[in-house]
Amino acid sequence: MSCGKEHGKVRTEKGRYKLDGKFHHSEPNTPIFNENGKLMGVTNPRDMTYVHSYGGEAIFFESLGKGKIMASRCDNPNCESRGSVFMPFRIHCPDCLMKSTVMDITEKAKTTAKVHTFMITARTGAFNPLPKPVKFVNVEFDGVVTILMGYLAVGEPKMDMRVVPIFNTKSPTYTILDLFWVPEGTPEASLPEGYTFD
Ligand SMILES: [Zn+2]
Repeated sequence: MSCGKEHGKVRTEKGRYKLDGKFHHSEPNTPIFNENGKLMGVTNPRDMTYVHSYGGEAIFFESLGKGKIMASRCDNPNCESRGSVFMPFRIHCPDCLMKSTVMDITEKAKTTAKVHTFMITARTGAFNPLPKPVKFVNVEFDGVVTILMGYLAVGEPKMDMRVVPIFNTKSPTYTILDLFWVPEGTPEASLPEGYTFD
């Protein structure tokens, strides 16, 4: 962020978060007057740094910047859903609550991903970084029991369209924004800056 403020940072020490710096900034408020000069309220500018712990999902976010999609699979022999593959990544099997096994589905995504359905939204919530209208695609993969919400970075979405993943490998943000989707056959030159097929 380029707002000129020093934002707090987090480091770890023996497995615990240690916070350094300022995580909350406030600025002088301003009054809100109506047309007749009557006080109607105040604005309260404030800025906070949110700390989002990834825990067991860290492997998923870390892998995106390396061009890999990691899913998870239930391997519990006593679970009726044994063998179910989850994408989005689930730390625990939702059926038996056992810790699931991390697995790489990058090749499966490149060769089988397609648009299950999609939606285009012209309005978004605060802090949306994607250009509007936003083309959201629900991506399905062969052999995966769940569907992943994604962003189509090039072209227009269509039902059943084959899509391939692209990754922010040049300067990863370690968020879901490091993974976008494009129609199969999209030339490398059309990808957003910093994104690659591998
Ligand atoms: Zn299970």
